[in-house]
Amino acid sequence: MILSHSSPRFLLRDNLGKLARELRFLGYDAAIYPHTSFFNALRLAQREKRILLTRSQAEAKTKTEVKCLLIKSNFWSQQLTEIIGLISFQEEFLFSRCAKCNKKLYEIDKSKIISIVPEYICQYHSEFRICRTCGSIYWQGDHYQDIKLRISRLFEEG
Ligand SMILES: [Zn+2]
Repeated sequence: MILSHSSPRFLLRDNLGKLARELRFLGYDAAIYPHTSFFNALRLAQREKRILLTRSQAEAKTKTEVKCLLIKSNFWSQQLTEIIGLISFQEEFLFSRCAKCNKKLYEIDKSKIISIVPEYICQYHSEFRICRTCGSIYWQGDHYQDIKLRISRLFEEG
């Protein structure tokens, strides 16, 4: 079974899609409910015990029991730095959630995806993970190594 961080969990507003992907890469539950009102987002965050991340000062200032944090930067790497005190980099949790839809990933046998994934990928990699919701397949290729390096540096500088 693939483990991921159980807390904190996040709810991000629509315009924080890149940050959500980075959090998911790290293994955090980072939900986005597209085109939902702030009121509804608050309700969902409360129900699902999520920290709400927003780019809107007005939203961040709203009096509510939900923890709302203002994200100031336009850039994902700085955005991640803004909340670095809340999160940690744990190698075993990397790529445990789907970057696209936030669902948990599952291990899948190479023989089952050999017809979908390019041949050279199958030659060089033996471990694959799949999102059972959107069907995305993940493996620890160059892209994975790049993201890992990029993000681990942020934590070192943190
Ligand atoms: Zn997915």
